[in-house]
Amino acid sequence: MDNNCIFCKIVRGEIPSAKIYEDDKTLAFLDIVPVNIGHALVIPKEHFKDIHEVPEDLVGHMMKIVKKVSSALRTSLPCDGVNVNMNNEGAAGQVVFHAHIHVIPRHAGDGFELWHGKRKYQENEMQKVSRKVSLAIA
Ligand code: AMP
Ligand code: ZN
Repeated sequence: MDNNCIFCKIVRGEIPSAKIYEDDKTLAFLDIVPVNIGHALVIPKEHFKDIHEVPEDLVGHMMKIVKKVSSALRTSLPCDGVNVNMNNEGAAGQVVFHAHIHVIPRHAGDGFELWHGKRKYQENEMQKVSRKVSLAIA
């Protein structure tokens, strides 16, 4: 637990949240500034900064809850599609440094812009990059 962390305060019930799911390891609640109505966040109850700190098993469990939340958004709200997104570290847009996964209901033409790749690989660059990353995984 981190005394100054806003999501830890939500877990402890010190500040209110619109809770939609809870178990012993995770909590899901509505984002206070939603991209669309129903935009939810899934968090581990224990404080971890980002995906790199969250133990592997717990990431797996969080994804199960993401699926539950996503299915519930589909059936309970106007929702034609769902984006699942996680910002990790400031460079990736993380603002609250308690790991969380966004589950965002979407509607055709809702105007929420996703990024689309524009960069190009140079010759052989793709192979070099894939080799580097696969070695790091092994
Ligand atoms: P990010 O760290 O950029 O992935 O996003 C943090 C998200 O947390 C933002 O979408 C905020 O709207 C949301 N947020 C911040 N404070 C609260 C709060 N008290 N209750 C619910 N959502 C929050
Ligand atoms: Zn926290």
